[in-house]
Amino acid sequence: MAKTSALSTDQDGHSVTVNQRQYALPKTPTVVVCVDGFDPAYLTHGIENGILPAMKAIKEGGYLGYAKCSMPSTTNTNNTSIVTGVPPAIHGINGNYYLDSETGEEIMVTDAKRLRCGTILGAVSGAGVSTAVVTAKDKLLKVLAYNMKGVAFSAQNANDAKLDIDGFHTAEALVGRSQPDQYSADLSIFVFDAGVRLFELKRPMLMYLSTSDYVQHKYAPGAPESNAFLKAVDERIGKLIKLGATVAITADHGMNDKCGPDGEANVIYVQDEISARFGEGSVRVICPIADPFVKHHGALGSFVRVHLQKPGDVGAMMEFVRGLPGIELVLDKAEVCKQFDLPLDREGDFAVFSDRNTVVGARREDHNLSELAGERLRSHGGLGEETVPFLVSRPLNDVYLRKTKNEVQHNYDIFDFALNGVE
Ligand code: ZN
Ligand code: ZN
Repeated sequence: MAKTSALSTDQDGHSVTVNQRQYALPKTPTVVVCVDGFDPAYLTHGIENGILPAMKAIKEGGYLGYAKCSMPSTTNTNNTSIVTGVPPAIHGINGNYYLDSETGEEIMVTDAKRLRCGTILGAVSGAGVSTAVVTAKDKLLKVLAYNMKGVAFSAQNANDAKLDIDGFHTAEALVGRSQPDQYSADLSIFVFDAGVRLFELKRPMLMYLSTSDYVQHKYAPGAPESNAFLKAVDERIGKLIKLGATVAITADHGMNDKCGPDGEANVIYVQDEISARFGEGSVRVICPIADPFVKHHGALGSFVRVHLQKPGDVGAMMEFVRGLPGIELVLDKAEVCKQFDLPLDREGDFAVFSDRNTVVGARREDHNLSELAGERLRSHGGLGEETVPFLVSRPLNDVYLRKTKNEVQHNYDIFDFALNGVE
C-alpha cells in the first residue's frame, strides 16, 4: 500500500507537503499537544480560577480559540486527524473499534493497518528534522509514529521503551520514576514529564504529546481532582514555553455528563431497541468509542454505527431510532459521510448520534457499568463533544489571524497553525 505517496519534501528544502498541504519545517522547536478529553469547559473554568496560568498567558500573548473535532468524537479518530492534517475520509481511521465485514468480528484499532495516508510527523522527520512522539496509550503509537524517524514511545510501556538518550535507556530512567498505572492521572503527566526531559536533553524541533482522558471521564470541571490534573498539565506547558518551545494545544474531543438528575446514566441500547421492533438478529450495533483505558465508561458514548445483518428496511429503522428520546441525529451511510468527512467503505448502514446528555450502546449485556461505582457517567463520541480548544503560544501572522475570523478551524489544522501560522 502506497501510504507515503502523498508525502514529499518540497524543492525549496524548507517545507514538506503532506496530504496536499504544505508545512514549513520548524524554524524554532515546536511542540503540539493533544490533551485528551479537554472539553472547553475545563479551559474556561481553569483560566477563570487561576488553575491554568500558562494557558491564560497564551490567551493574552498568543492565540486562544476553538475548533471542531472529527466525528465520531473519539480518541483514535482525532489523534489520527491531528497528525495527518486531514479528516477520516482521507486517513481512514473512523473509530477505536470497527466491525470486520468478512469475519463479523469486532476489532480494536491497535496498529496502522487501517491508516490510508502518511503523517506530518513522518514527513518532517523524513526531511531530516529531529522529531519525537510521546503518547499515553500504546495502542496509538503505531499510527502516531508511522514511518517516523526519531524518539517514539508510550507512557504505558515506558518500561520497555528502548531509548538511547544521554545514557538513559528506558523512558522510566529518562523521567526518573516508574511506569504509571494504565488507569491513572499520572499516565498523562508522565507524557508531559517525558516531553520536558526530552526537550531539555535533545531539543527536538518537532514533538507531539498525546495524553489519556482518564481524569476527564471521572471528574467534571471544577472538581478538585480535575483541577489538580490540569494544573499539573499547565505547569509543564509553561515549562516547555519557558524552555523556548512554540506550543500548540488542542484536544481530540470534549467531554460531557451523561446522567439524569438522579445520577443514573441516560442510556439507549440501540441494538436491543431495534431487535425488539424489527426482530432479533436484524442488526449489529458497533460502539466506536470502546476504549480499554477508561473501563469505567462501559464503552458507552454518543455515537454508534448500525450494520444490517440481513436485508431490512433501513428507512423504517432510522425513523424508529429517530423517535427514541435522547437521540439527536440519525443519518444513513452516504449522508453521514458527506456531512462528517467519513470513509464510505467503512461506515455502517446508518449512524446514530445521541444528545449531549445521553449515550447509546449496543445490547445491555455488552456494557458493564459496575466500574462506575456510584460515579456519574461522563463520556463523548457525539456532537456535544465536537468543540475543542485551539491554542498557539505565539501570536499568529496576519494570514492565519484572518483564517480564524473567516474559516472554521478543525483540530487537524493545529500543525498547520503551529508551523505556518506564527509570526
Ligand atoms: Zn480521547
Ligand atoms: Zn474517552
